[in-house]
Amino acid sequence: MSTATTSILRGGEFLLVASEPSGVFTPERLTDEHRMIGATVRDFVNGEVLPVLDRLEEKDWGLARELVRRGAELGLMGADVAEQYGGLGLDKVASVVISEQMSLSASFAATFGAHANLVVLPLSLFGTEDQKQRYLPRLLSGEMVGAYCLSEPGSGSDALGAKARATRQPDGSFLLNGEKMWITNGGFADLFVIFAKVDPSHVTGSGSEPAGFTAFIVERAFGGLTSGKEEHKMGLHGSSTTPIILQDVRVPAENLLGEVGKGHKIAFNVLNFARYKLGAMCGGGAQGAIGEAARYAATRRQFGAPIASFGAIRHKLGEMVAQAYATQSLIYRTAGLIDARIAATPHEATDQSVVLAAVEEYAIEASIAKVFGSEMMDFVLDENIQVHGGNGYVRDYPAERHYRDSRVNRIFEGTNEINRLLIPGMLARRAAKGGLGLIAAAKALQDELLGPPSLPDADDSPLAEERRTVANGKKASLLALGLAMQTYREALPEQQEVLIHVADMVMETYAADSALLRAGAAAGTAAADLHAAAARTFVNDAAVRIEASARQALATMVEGDTLRTMLAGLKRLFRQMPINTATLRRQLADAAVAQGAYPF
Ligand SMILES: Cc1cc2nc3c(=O)[nH]c(=O)nc-3n(C[C@H](O)[C@H](O)[C@H](O)COP(=O)(O)OP(=O)(O)OC[C@H]3O[C@@H](n4cnc5c(N)ncnc54)[C@H](O)[C@@H]3O)c2cc1C
Repeated sequence: MSTATTSILRGGEFLLVASEPSGVFTPERLTDEHRMIGATVRDFVNGEVLPVLDRLEEKDWGLARELVRRGAELGLMGADVAEQYGGLGLDKVASVVISEQMSLSASFAATFGAHANLVVLPLSLFGTEDQKQRYLPRLLSGEMVGAYCLSEPGSGSDALGAKARATRQPDGSFLLNGEKMWITNGGFADLFVIFAKVDPSHVTGSGSEPAGFTAFIVERAFGGLTSGKEEHKMGLHGSSTTPIILQDVRVPAENLLGEVGKGHKIAFNVLNFARYKLGAMCGGGAQGAIGEAARYAATRRQFGAPIASFGAIRHKLGEMVAQAYATQSLIYRTAGLIDARIAATPHEATDQSVVLAAVEEYAIEASIAKVFGSEMMDFVLDENIQVHGGNGYVRDYPAERHYRDSRVNRIFEGTNEINRLLIPGMLARRAAKGGLGLIAAAKALQDELLGPPSLPDADDSPLAEERRTVANGKKASLLALGLAMQTYREALPEQQEVLIHVADMVMETYAADSALLRAGAAAGTAAADLHAAAARTFVNDAAVRIEASARQALATMVEGDTLRTMLAGLKRLFRQMPINTATLRRQLADAAVAQGAYPF
């Protein structure tokens, strides 16, 4: 199936609609071209990056630059860029494949991500023809390395609160002053996308020129830009992170990126792209670690037997696989939706507005990919250390490095708190605007749950019980979100505790739905049983987590008889019998051990 035949849902609509397995993109539907790209990146990382990781960790930035050039020769820096600018013009599924494979070397993945996703991408999306001609070929060949300067010492999550200033000069150029913080590739980059505020009080002339948060393309060669000292980080030691100090950096007018006062558009759109790719990187990192844990468990013997034969270790391996499966399922589904939407909208190859609109449409799913992926990976990497025992805690094995490298994924590209708040926030805004029928669905649901119980549906086909559970997870999410919107109205954004519970429910639901649809799509194949084991394990446990979040959210919003009535309705939704997940997890663990790898 090509992505063009994916059924197109609106962003967030998965809560309202039951999709068919045949209409969802899954990793099993990758084309030969996608698989070839994946193999190219895997070979590059295994053959050229991992063998020199120690030198990268010693901060040999000449080597980092050389690796960017090698990746560029393979075409990896311009996967999303139109062919006319030297890119490969690939679909978003391909960029997910690249991100997944790149993750095997987290430090270089950060270098790559900052260059390709945070500099090449905004230039290709928002740059003028002249800017693209001047910079894209040099970035895509690796002649120039890019860095993205949004954060400052006083403004991280609150990125629009930046203090860096851009002062317009009589000749139309700008003078940039300020300090940027935690800039990936900061120590050696040549080209910077820098956000600063054009201050109206400094505008020359009539005073009517636009002002505000603005993006600029800045060459190190312009002068006045210096890199501060390398940060001593917990992980990612092979990636440069420095402050960037701006002292009267003169930026010509033609290096304004986008429009004055519209920098937020660039920053937010870049984040939408970066988030599902980061989710994919986390998915790939977890898959690699599952292979390490499975291989170690097969060879490490205690009490006269391989530790992989112990139920406690099989439980761990099985759970790691089930969670990675759900994450991978939701990320490919999201990329497939974006591609399908782009393909369904007639446009010229050079018209980036269609791509931007498609990625923005699935901003909710992109935030889920980022949060769910990064937390799943931290769980998997923590368990990887535990499976390795003492060897997991020392540097002789990579488990220790992965654990340190991974932690930052919950902090950058919007912290997981900020992304959690965005998920229900965007759903509520789209519902209020009428773009999503959430309000009507939530009202109908309240009536259903307050009315007499309906007869259970008699479907007993494979995975039918799981389909009912996922449908009920959607209902529970709608119940909590609907009640929150009704209770707090305009004050909803201030109710962070409730929003976070609702976000958790929505994320678990999207993951469970995506895993189940993928298992449904695998029905009849040789691996169908294994897919079903992963999906059933995940769905069973997700239901418990969704119910727990729902109980807490409801109890925060209502009390007394109203709460009792709501909890009774909730109980009706989650009355399914628990299944024997021990057997299913063993099946997943044994497959991972037999293959010495993540088994999907
Ligand atoms: C290794 C590394 C590489 C990085 N690379 C780059 C880069 O290349 N370019 C770049 O521009 N930046 C980069 N960053 C910066 C990164 O994007 C920020 O660290 C991140 O956005 C968080 O900002 P902060 O650190 O100021 O945390 P803060 O915003 O101070 O947040 C601190 C805590 O408060 C919470 N919080 C903040 N606001 C709210 C709110 N409204 N509601 C609820 N909770 C809230 C956060 O979730 C977090 O838990 C990098 C950071 C690191 C560590």
